[in-house]
Amino acid sequence: MDKERKSMAELDPEELARIRRVTLGGETSEDTEGAKSRRARQSASRRSRKRGSARGKSRGGSGVPLGGLFLALMLGIGAGLSGGYYMWGYEKPYVVDLKAVEVPSWVEQDFIRKNIFSRPDVTIQRVNNIVIHYVANPGSTARGNRDYFDSLADQDPQAGGTSSSSHFVVGLDGEVIQCMPVDEMAYANSPRNSDTISIENCHPDETGAFTQATYDSLVKLTACLCDQLDLTSKDVIRHYDVNGKECPKYYVDHEEEWERFKQDVDQAVKSRAWENGPEGA
Ligand SMILES: [Zn+2]
Repeated sequence: MDKERKSMAELDPEELARIRRVTLGGETSEDTEGAKSRRARQSASRRSRKRGSARGKSRGGSGVPLGGLFLALMLGIGAGLSGGYYMWGYEKPYVVDLKAVEVPSWVEQDFIRKNIFSRPDVTIQRVNNIVIHYVANPGSTARGNRDYFDSLADQDPQAGGTSSSSHFVVGLDGEVIQCMPVDEMAYANSPRNSDTISIENCHPDETGAFTQATYDSLVKLTACLCDQLDLTSKDVIRHYDVNGKECPKYYVDHEEEWERFKQDVDQAVKSRAWENGPEGA
C-alpha cells in the first residue's frame, strides 16, 4: 500500500506540469477556445444555481430529492470500492480455468454421486491451496475410501449425518481415484473448503507413514496440479495447517519429512514427473 502511494507521489510533479501546460495553452495561444470554455463554465454554473433553487422549493413538497439520493448512492459505492481497495490491496485477476484442469491418464476418474453430505455441487471460484490428508484408517484402500464418500449420499438428510469427501484418494499401491471435479467443493478441511482441493492418502499402519508407492504418486499428482493451478510447493499445505487437526499424522509428527515432500514436489514440477505415470503402475 505504501509502495502504491509513493509511486503516485512520484508521478505528481509530471502530472502537474502536464496540467499546467494544457491550461496555459488554452488561455494564451488558443484564446478563443479558452474564452469559449470559460463561457461554457459560467453558463453551466448559472444552470446549476437554478437547479439548486428549484430543488430547494421542491424539498418542502413531494419528498425525496432524487439528486440527493443518487449522490448518496454514488458515495456509498465509492466508499465501498475504495474501502475494499485499501483493505485488500490490488488482487491480480484469477486466470486459471478450473474446468480445463486435466489429470494424468493414470488417475482413475470415478466421481461420487452429487449429494448434500459429500458432493454438494458447489462451484469453486479459485484454488489457493492444495491440502494433503491421511485417511486415518490403516490398511483401507483408495477404492474403499472413495466408496465410503459415495455411501454418505444414502444418509437421511432429515436426520443429519456425516459430511466428508476429498477430490482425490491415493491408494497403498500408488493408484489414484478422483472422486469429484476440481472445480467443485469437497468437505475435507473446514473452513477452507471453498478455495482448496484435497488429496487423501492411504497408509498401512497407525503411524500414518505412506508407502513408497503412495508417496511417489502423491508427489506426481501434487506437482501436476501445481503446474496447472499456477501454484508452487509453498501453496501445498497440510490439513493441520488449516485447522490444527493431526492430519496427515506422519507429516505433523515429522516436520522435516514434510519439508522434504515439498522439495520433491518442486523437483517433480521441473521434470514434469507425472507424465511418466505412477511407480509400479
Ligand atoms: Zn485431513
